[in-house]
Amino acid sequence: MSNRISIKGVKVSMDHYINGKRVSSEKKFTVINPNNPSEVLAEVSRGDEEIAKLAVSAAREGFNVWSEMSVDGRASIMHRLADLIESNVDDISLIECLDMGMRHESLRNRVIPRGARNFRSYADIAKEYKPRKWHSNTTKNEIQRMPSGISVIITPWNAPFMLSTWKCAPALAAGNSVILKPAEWSPLSASLLGDLIDEAGFPAGVFNIVQGIGEEVGAILVSDPNVNRVSFTGSPEAARHIGKSAAENITPFTGELGGKSPLIIFPDVDLEVAVAKAVGQFDDSGQICLAGTRLLVHSSIKKEFLNRFLELTAEQKLGSSFDDETEITPMIHPDHLQSVAGFVDRARINGDKVLCGGRVFKDDKLWYEPTLIEPVSNQSEVVQKEIFGPVLTLQTFDTESEAIELANSTEYGLAGMLYTKNRGIAERVGRAIRAGTVWVNCFLIRDLTAPFGGFGLSGIGREGGDYGIDFHSDLKTFQILDDSLSE
Ligand code: NAD
Repeated sequence: MSNRISIKGVKVSMDHYINGKRVSSEKKFTVINPNNPSEVLAEVSRGDEEIAKLAVSAAREGFNVWSEMSVDGRASIMHRLADLIESNVDDISLIECLDMGMRHESLRNRVIPRGARNFRSYADIAKEYKPRKWHSNTTKNEIQRMPSGISVIITPWNAPFMLSTWKCAPALAAGNSVILKPAEWSPLSASLLGDLIDEAGFPAGVFNIVQGIGEEVGAILVSDPNVNRVSFTGSPEAARHIGKSAAENITPFTGELGGKSPLIIFPDVDLEVAVAKAVGQFDDSGQICLAGTRLLVHSSIKKEFLNRFLELTAEQKLGSSFDDETEITPMIHPDHLQSVAGFVDRARINGDKVLCGGRVFKDDKLWYEPTLIEPVSNQSEVVQKEIFGPVLTLQTFDTESEAIELANSTEYGLAGMLYTKNRGIAERVGRAIRAGTVWVNCFLIRDLTAPFGGFGLSGIGREGGDYGIDFHSDLKTFQILDDSLSE
């Protein structure tokens, strides 16, 4: 029986998608609307061991078909999927906004269309791949990139559609089949993706979606010995569990994990631009892994920076994710709001100074005020740990080396942002920052062919472009002894 419900006019399946069919579980989990947390949006099928087994066996069958198709054949289906995402942007944005609470305007115009770009980009990268061929002393050599099998993809609740497509596309482009396990707080846009996969004409079993709880069905999937790759985005805590399970089977594993990125502002910048960028770190209520949550400002401009920052922050509009004027959207879930509020409460006890915000906006709602904290020391928890909410810290530096030392003083290393007009500073400081991506005078500009990942607690392995396809592939060195073969 089809278990579809209509959410604001969009039909969404509440079930898993396995072997090209919808499959239901008796047990369910509940999804709420962050803009109105007392509203239950959906009761979604909650996967278990049986469902995981079904998905793995379907994915093996799917792999046998997909891996035998030509690269061009696979790419044309992926482009068809991208076309379908583009023609369904309105429905996907609506569901994602209800489910996750990100700004509708930004979903509609940027974030969901990026899902289509993810598939197009990887389809083209796979097509353009030129295997390295060379001749050494006595042999002709070639690197062969072979599909490796089944990729299990585990994604987090923030920007779920964009991140799921970003992680599934390289696996499919490599010729692997996929089992996607979306996060339990925002699983609905993945369900819509299942419908589009079907319509695009992927052979059955190539792309499967298992809904459910991370510690339950997620843990079962990543420990299945028949799985050939595990690609995870989420917290370092979950990565430790998943990495251990993958290690049991020697299954290659990548983790795109949390961040605590520095945003460094030198005194030669246009302060208006730098302040706007700093306040912009509150976007999506800080639920962005790459956000520059540690503001490191040259001490000579601290006073003026702070005045302007507080002025602009006071103008930030908290409101509905559907309102184009809204700047601060709700947190995704009451548990997450509580976690964010806990960091600020402990900061107060620690003696850190809350310069603005620091409160839940309305008792039974999920908005947290945009907050700036001046820590008593660099060791304060709010400086050292990822909060993943609208909470920034402000620290000052006097010299380049102090800026670098502060920038590199946490266990994370996902990104770094640097604002200066001086080329020498940009190159010296940029090179010294230990992070997977460093942006100078810009933020969140992504070239999908570039490697993406983090240092330290921010991740293991790299995805993006050929790096992503290589991860999902088995690379083989193929050598033929000169003059050893007849025609
Ligand atoms: P999370 O680690 O709690 O969950 C992520 C996913 O893992 C979910 O689907 C969850 O169900 C699953 N999961 C949890 N425990 C599991 C287990 N034992 N076995 C298998 N699966 C398990 O993370 P979250 O709270 O959903 O997301 C927020 C985190 O993700 C933050 O740390 C954020 O920085 C990070 N993140 C990183 C990036 C990046 O690209 N580096 C992007 C977005 C989010």
